[in-house]
Amino acid sequence: MAAQADLIIIGSGSTAFAAALRATSYGARVLMFEKSVLGGTCINWGCIPSKTLIHAALFKHEAGRGARLGMGRDDDNSTPDAERLFRHRETVVAELRQERYLNVLAGMEGLQLVKGTARLVDSRTVTCDGQNYTAERILLAMGGTPRIPPLPGLERCNYLTSRSALLLKKLPTSLVIIGGGVVAVELGQMYHRLGCRVTILEHGPRLLPAVEPELSAALEAVLTAEGLKVATNVSFCSVDRLGELNVVHADQGDHRHKYTCERILLAAGTLPATDGIGLEEVGVTVDRKGFIQVDGQMRTSVAGIWAAGDVVGRLMIATVGAREGIVAVDDMFNASCGCSMDYLAAPMAIFTDPEVAMAGYGEAEARAAGFDCMVNVMPVSAIPKAHVVGQTDGVIKMIADRPSVRLLGVHLICHRGADMINEASLALRLKATVDDLAATMHVYPSIGEGLRLCAQGFSRDISRLSCCAE
Ligand SMILES: Cc1cc2nc3c(=O)[nH]c(=O)nc-3n(C[C@H](O)[C@H](O)[C@H](O)COP(=O)(O)OP(=O)(O)OC[C@H]3O[C@@H](n4cnc5c(N)ncnc54)[C@H](O)[C@@H]3O)c2cc1C
Repeated sequence: MAAQADLIIIGSGSTAFAAALRATSYGARVLMFEKSVLGGTCINWGCIPSKTLIHAALFKHEAGRGARLGMGRDDDNSTPDAERLFRHRETVVAELRQERYLNVLAGMEGLQLVKGTARLVDSRTVTCDGQNYTAERILLAMGGTPRIPPLPGLERCNYLTSRSALLLKKLPTSLVIIGGGVVAVELGQMYHRLGCRVTILEHGPRLLPAVEPELSAALEAVLTAEGLKVATNVSFCSVDRLGELNVVHADQGDHRHKYTCERILLAAGTLPATDGIGLEEVGVTVDRKGFIQVDGQMRTSVAGIWAAGDVVGRLMIATVGAREGIVAVDDMFNASCGCSMDYLAAPMAIFTDPEVAMAGYGEAEARAAGFDCMVNVMPVSAIPKAHVVGQTDGVIKMIADRPSVRLLGVHLICHRGADMINEASLALRLKATVDDLAATMHVYPSIGEGLRLCAQGFSRDISRLSCCAE
């Protein structure tokens, strides 16, 4: 006989846990399936291990720049203790997995974990290890998997993906990164700072193709000044193994280049982890890249099946996946709430140094949506605190609707940018105007004051203002 529940969730990542917590708060009995390590990408091979290593690398980098502030030396060439560093990463991951997933699981009444690979049988049934399970509702939260580009010779190379690059036990001496997106810049700068020679090869004309061009340009300038090699407009031809080394053959313009390295890191995007799940048989519609298509309530094309998180491929970050999971569950158990996903105010950050962060419309996107936009781009060097801490690289770009002066988007590359963007997200959510931001007192001196200064810049020449003047 099939085991029964009110809700089946396939996956145990941040999306699945947020959904399960919401569902059990409605009193639902939930069955959660996990084929690998509990907690999914974010805790095991995403947010937490990457940010732990990035922070350690930042610490080393900062220590070597003390002379800038009149302290210490300017040349910290010390080699990191890789064994201790990676042990630290493992400890942080293990502790947080225990606290945030295992303990939460143990304390969540109504939730039962089933270990194994689940597959859809129909819109009410999944099968796992020969046993059938049924529920009125199914949530697909299988996440994503790194895309492996079809490069001739790849099968001979010991390449890394975002996942394996975060599980290394030894620092590579040199790394060539194929792709110039978020994973490439975050892990590229981190490994460079830990003493590895890093080259980033991007097929398109700029790094971070999805962010505002001013931010890409500023980041590329920072990375190259730091010593990373960046090549854009690259056409990849093949890869090869040369003894212990790997070689990437690529064209740039009319020139064929050969990049030799100890490891290749593939950072060519994410695909949905839907292989063998049975979507086609059940009739769940996917897009061109295979991501599951959903509406604003995260309903798939099949009644009774919802999907959320990386598997739907909207904004592939943990916070958005969690919110999508919650919206799906609210729709399942409390449809009259009229809840719906709103991606506009979702804040996103890229943890380079300085951090890149954004919320709301981009300039081209706002114009395409029909807004009569006004735009202000301000250098971070206009923020007094940036001078105090010696972090003046970067820009803040603000987009507003001209007739109403309502804020439409904030995009920045700035020291502490990931923290700053939360305020922008709140302002967008509350439909604030640039005047609201300009009239809000901010702590002086603080990097966050940059948002007020940039908002003031729509109507004033801020270079003529004294500190804290309005
Ligand atoms: C290197 C890196 C850094 C990142 N940094 C950040 C960051 O700083 N901040 C941020 O917000 N986001 C970050 N992200 C993105 C974030 O990790 C993901 O958006 C988020 O983890 C997706 O959660 P999910 O629950 O949708 O999927 P996942 O966490 O991938 O969970 C899916 C789970 O489903 C399981 N599964 C799949 N198929 C089956 C099946 N058939 N049966 C049973 N189980 C199955 C998988 O094993 C997996 O455990 C990062 C991602 C990467 C790769």
